[in-house]
Amino acid sequence: MSEKEYKECPNCNSKIGGWSGEKIIGENLITIINESSKKLDSSFVEKEAYCENCTKEIKEKYSEKLKEASEDFDKLNTNDIILFSTSPPQNWEYEYLDLFSTYCLINTNQWDTTDSFDTSKYIDQKWFSSTVIDEMPEFIMDYCKEKLRKKVITMGGNALIGVKIDCTHSWVDSENLYYFKINLLGTVIKLNNIADILSDTSSKNVNELSRIGNEISLLKNLSDLEL
Ligand SMILES: [Zn+2]
Repeated sequence: MSEKEYKECPNCNSKIGGWSGEKIIGENLITIINESSKKLDSSFVEKEAYCENCTKEIKEKYSEKLKEASEDFDKLNTNDIILFSTSPPQNWEYEYLDLFSTYCLINTNQWDTTDSFDTSKYIDQKWFSSTVIDEMPEFIMDYCKEKLRKKVITMGGNALIGVKIDCTHSWVDSENLYYFKINLLGTVIKLNNIADILSDTSSKNVNELSRIGNEISLLKNLSDLEL
């Protein structure tokens, strides 16, 4: 495909070419800007091209919006997102999206140490030593569940199947912080008949979370544009 020659940017009218002019961005970036912006704002008027100058402005504008949206997202209650440890029941109609696998480290700064939680039950008190634990403290389970639920939403899904939460090791560092290393695994799916499975209120909540998650991923597309 031959590239069209521009004298000025169709979006911001900057001069194109020459030693002082701007450069038109690649076809794939133009598509991302137009497609993602249209989905975010139905009144968006797409342009046939953008230059590096206005693309920088687009990136900045959406990075700012992404920051705000992510802060709001962190405050949301995600408890209605289903985490299922086995295969899904027969009445679930769903699409497979992706496998999710990660680990996280949780340390004592992340929970209330005035809690009656007894670390000695889980941790070998020696510096840097690590110990295998066989019982997961409940607050760690809650922390992981929330992390998984948020991840499901940002991956475009609305439920997680085959969930595995494994707390493998715990140890103490030189600052006397207690750490837990947790492995998290699951398969992200998009349930199509969520209204048949959850209550009205819960399915509405999940749909709203999906809407916000979708918005965040579009904002990410626009703020991650690589020039
Ligand atoms: Zn421009």
